[in-house]
Amino acid sequence: MKIAVFAGDGIGPEVTAQALRVLDALPIKVSLIEGDVGGVAYKRHGLPLPAETLVAAREADAILFGAVGDFDCDHLERHLRPEQAILGLRSELGLFANLRPAKVFPGMEGHSALKPEIAGAIDLLIVRELNGDVYFGEKGTRTTAQGLREGYDIMSYDEGEVRRIAIAGFEAARKRRGKLCSVDKANVLETSQLWRDVVIETHADYADVELSHMYVDNAAMQLVKSPGQFDVVVTGNLFGDILSDQASMCVGSIGLLASASLGERKTAYGTFGLYEPIHGSAPDIAGKGIANPMATILSLAELLRHSLGEEQQAARIEAAVAAALADGVLGGDLGGTANCSEIGDAVLTRL
Ligand code: ATP
Ligand code: MG
Repeated sequence: MKIAVFAGDGIGPEVTAQALRVLDALPIKVSLIEGDVGGVAYKRHGLPLPAETLVAAREADAILFGAVGDFDCDHLERHLRPEQAILGLRSELGLFANLRPAKVFPGMEGHSALKPEIAGAIDLLIVRELNGDVYFGEKGTRTTAQGLREGYDIMSYDEGEVRRIAIAGFEAARKRRGKLCSVDKANVLETSQLWRDVVIETHADYADVELSHMYVDNAAMQLVKSPGQFDVVVTGNLFGDILSDQASMCVGSIGLLASASLGERKTAYGTFGLYEPIHGSAPDIAGKGIANPMATILSLAELLRHSLGEEQQAARIEAAVAAALADGVLGGDLGGTANCSEIGDAVLTRL
């Protein structure tokens, strides 16, 4: 089993180092290949995603990704900026399904933006499509007949794109509580009507999964009102972008949330994917050793689950993180004083 490790910029290397300590403590044999991404890659190689990094990514069964983002690169042309590393990996590797689990760990209810009793019920997974929608449709600016400036972005999905993300949603639901909610705006959008039709067709192969549909405006409301009703939510790129950030804040700290980006390629043990915390490079606290590495450690758990077929080890890591939190091991993002390596120690002890 081969893992490519791209730690990146800012707090990326600090939090990734703690995740690697956890990996090292597990009874599984993996080989690691490191690669440069982001601002650090630009400084060393003149590109945010150098060719050798992409080669390492393709040779691996999974990628553990830290974060990219560097103020020193703000003046650069867009294609040289650190953020291009993650966008480039997603498109080059065909990573079209972004999975973001949102779960409130016992005792962490008070950190949610919601009332503790509502927050405590959250245990959902958002499956967001990543390669289509308005982000990739035709876009431009023009002048109207009245001489006004006009901008446009075409929203489009073909049925193949919808089917593969629907399958990712059904598969995820099958491994969880067996409920899938498909979120669209089918009362207004043609794309959404096609989306809904294809999701319903795909359901024929997943009769064991309970399927429901919700308009995105209602979904935004329900996520805050009674988030406990959701198991897996599958949605498009734009709606997913917004709902997944909303779900994050329903849970609480940015330092606790993991993500997985999966494609169609299978490894010998599961599905090839890229795993990263949802937070960025946090330049304001980089180098101080105070970042919370739990989101990256939980991303490692997702990597073991989806790409390496090591569900048991994934669950062990999640239980160790939960136990550390329950014992009051809290990083600065949660109002605590534990630093990055102390949190790593605490998780290792409980593993
Ligand atoms: P980027 O441009 O790389 O996305 P950003 O500043 O937009 O960076 P984040 O890096 O996610 O966004 O940081 C947002 C805030 O959350 C910052 O104040 C940062 O210090 C804090 N933060 C982010 N990740 C962590 C973490 N793992 N532990 C503690 N605080 C964090
Ligand atoms: Mg950010």
